[in-house]
Amino acid sequence: MTHLRAWLEKADRQFIWHPFTQMQEYGRETPLVVREGRGCWLVDIHGRKYLDGVSSLWCNIHGHRRPEIDAALRAQLGRIAHSTLLGISNEPAIRLAKELVDLAPAGLTKIFYSDNGSTAVEVALKMAFQYWQHRGGAWRKKTKFVALRNGYHGDTIGAMSVGGIDLFHAAFRPLLFKTYLAPSPYCYRCEFGLDCTRCGWECVAALERILRARGREVAAMIVEPLVQAAGGMIVAPRGYLKRIARLCKRYHVLLIADEVATGFGRTGRMFACEHEGVRPDLLACSKGMTGGYMPLAATLCRLNIYDAFLGRFSEQKTFFHGHTFTGNQLGCTAALASIGIFKKDRVLEKLVPKVETLRTQLEQLRGLQHVGDVRQCGLIGAVELVQDREAGTPFDWRQRMGAQVCRAARRNGLLIRPLGDVIVIMPPLAISERDLRWMMGVIGDSIRDVTERSAPETQRKAE
Ligand code: PLP
Repeated sequence: MTHLRAWLEKADRQFIWHPFTQMQEYGRETPLVVREGRGCWLVDIHGRKYLDGVSSLWCNIHGHRRPEIDAALRAQLGRIAHSTLLGISNEPAIRLAKELVDLAPAGLTKIFYSDNGSTAVEVALKMAFQYWQHRGGAWRKKTKFVALRNGYHGDTIGAMSVGGIDLFHAAFRPLLFKTYLAPSPYCYRCEFGLDCTRCGWECVAALERILRARGREVAAMIVEPLVQAAGGMIVAPRGYLKRIARLCKRYHVLLIADEVATGFGRTGRMFACEHEGVRPDLLACSKGMTGGYMPLAATLCRLNIYDAFLGRFSEQKTFFHGHTFTGNQLGCTAALASIGIFKKDRVLEKLVPKVETLRTQLEQLRGLQHVGDVRQCGLIGAVELVQDREAGTPFDWRQRMGAQVCRAARRNGLLIRPLGDVIVIMPPLAISERDLRWMMGVIGDSIRDVTERSAPETQRKAE
């Protein structure tokens, strides 16, 4: 057993290139190799337990090894694991499509499956683009996209083209298509230098200027409803989403809601759009869809978009897009079981006190010396660390304060990942109040330990 553990740790470093990871540094530390999951906890090959504070990258909802999902998958394995959806169909995919139409914001009645968040976004972009081509005439000039600074929609070329995070996207800029970027609704670091007492929705006005000038050439605007997740869990002020939805309608621009991170209960509603009664033209979802069990995604669209693709084959209106594992039976089965748990366990109802607990715990952190801002939306929390609270001056990025805090938390049995100097709180929705309080306690201690005790020293090192 000891031999196996040592081999796994060595072979991991030898053979695996980890995503979003500087491998030269990764190799310096002993890797954390997960052996199993139990509820909201992960157990490594040494038997050490870690609370899964990132929901296995924002997708685990009901905890690991949920008996209902496990049983549904075993039963499905007794029938078939996968057959294609190209031209033929299968029962779990059909059942799930019906469920998604019932759950989603009204009007989204057609489901196109793929297998991850980026592909769900690619599908939405291509559908929007081709929709206007099929409309013909002057509409065919609508070939561009509008997106937000600090937005993140995935790592494929199209998804990156509508991304607004330079750290991730700048290196690939020559490969990407042109997108008009509008200001991010990042109130803590408002692009217009305003605070909420003086805000006159300047960011919305700036978006309107883009749409007024460019609307005729814009096919769609893509937005992460309510929370720009990878951009730093930036929570938009209430009313922002509704306002941009209205603008899209006014300028004949399709609205793509990227609910990959926010969908399936994360914000306290099934989909974030519901908070503001927004009905997008297209909606991309993935992550939590299968309860975090399997790679599966869907792009939902309105009937008028779907109808524009209908015609004789010779009219060349077919949507030529599809992935091998589109509509995979195991993925769809896991998603159906996950939706079943939402209903049976009244997950959204039970979330209400947890959201309140997170709120009070975040407020306590607000008082710390190096906490500039705390943000929350449902069971998404964020703590932005700063060098100087009064001026909001960030730490020198080379100090990597966020990473240091997360490393300290890991030593205490909590697994979290930062976004720069933003500490992200994204536990499974199934987390108990007790574990949630414990998690927030570890985060507070880790922030204090790293920023208050070691800040001057690490700053010196960076200099
Ligand atoms: N869209 C949003 C809003 C996301 O947060 C992510 C991933 O974090 C993606 C798209 C890409 O999803 P995936 O990593 O499954 O490709």
